[in-house]
Amino acid sequence: MVFDAHDFDGHEQVIFCHDRTSGLKAIIAVHNTNLGPALGGCRFWPYASEEEALKDVLRLSRGMTYKAALANLELGGGKAVIIGDAERDKTPEKLHAFGRFVERLNGLYITAEDMGTTPKDMTMISEETRHVVGREAKEGGSGDPSILTSFGVFTGIRACVYYKMGKEDLSGVRIAVEGLGHVGIDLVKRLSEAGASLVVTDINKPLLEEVSRQYGAQAVGVEEIFAADVDVFAPCALGGILNDEIIPRLKCQIVAGSANNQLAEPYHAKALEKRGILYAPDYLINSGGLINVSYEGPNYDLQEVMTHVEGIYYTLLEIFEAAKAHHITTSEASDSLAKDRFTKK
Ligand code: NAD
Repeated sequence: MVFDAHDFDGHEQVIFCHDRTSGLKAIIAVHNTNLGPALGGCRFWPYASEEEALKDVLRLSRGMTYKAALANLELGGGKAVIIGDAERDKTPEKLHAFGRFVERLNGLYITAEDMGTTPKDMTMISEETRHVVGREAKEGGSGDPSILTSFGVFTGIRACVYYKMGKEDLSGVRIAVEGLGHVGIDLVKRLSEAGASLVVTDINKPLLEEVSRQYGAQAVGVEEIFAADVDVFAPCALGGILNDEIIPRLKCQIVAGSANNQLAEPYHAKALEKRGILYAPDYLINSGGLINVSYEGPNYDLQEVMTHVEGIYYTLLEIFEAAKAHHITTSEASDSLAKDRFTKK
């Protein structure tokens, strides 16, 4: 069932974890550790079936290998899922039991927060294992990763604007930001300080109005944002928005945002290219948070982290050049560069 699964991609280890006392049911997938221990979040999610949980953990752990490799980290890719409803089923006993399973792997897998888990949960897991990052700042963790994710997206937008528009700064560049959550709001602040002209949207109307007022951004509806007359579209809400229906409506020349899995299907990278739109591969431009947690520890230095995150600028330029030279999409070029880095020679 594992080796034949659609999303199995030569994963090194897939561990099914069950703890009778707490009722924990979890799967840890270690995709590749050529570059270092496998780091990836632990998702607490009410999967409808074991197959669905397995599919998710295989897919997500594979993605982490590519992400860590492109972020120039000495880390591999892994991920964990705990089956259950985080609101209803999450208990300290389950988190502790999960921590013990992580500890048994002796550092092969390092866990972190993800959908359904929090920095507080990571602190609790750390009572059972050393192999956990993303704990609360007051417990010596690196705190909210969104700020560094946003800094990475900001850096990535600068690289795209330079490559596509030949402009070294963002003054007067028209940018649409979809989603004003942890990442989006910080991004809006940075873009506004850099002199960009902003269009924003969110399903949360009061939040939208507040951000619009505070940063002098034009507020539009959630459907209107796709056709906004802008240079850059920065998706910072949901995945899957680059699809058959939305791509033809885009007026931008660049898509660069934090949302995970922006392309509904791989072929949508080609659809963007055909429309002359430069796409910044999501797992590269949103890797600032991962870079941040990788530095967690007693010697954490924000300046050092920011310098590393700024590397996203040069990696994007390298990918854009490679895509042009080899007549492939930017998405294919980033996959290929990542693979080169994590494949054992
Ligand atoms: P968040 O939940 O804090 O914010 C998401 C925002 O999007 C919310 O304000 C929500 O109201 C809004 N939203 C939801 N549906 C919308 C819609 N249809 N149209 C417009 N707005 C909508 O999430 P976040 O932490 O800011 O992350 C944003 C995206 O970036 C997610 O896809 C996330 O997976 C990805 N990401 C985040 C990080 C990080 O460090 N937080 C790292 C990597 C990737």
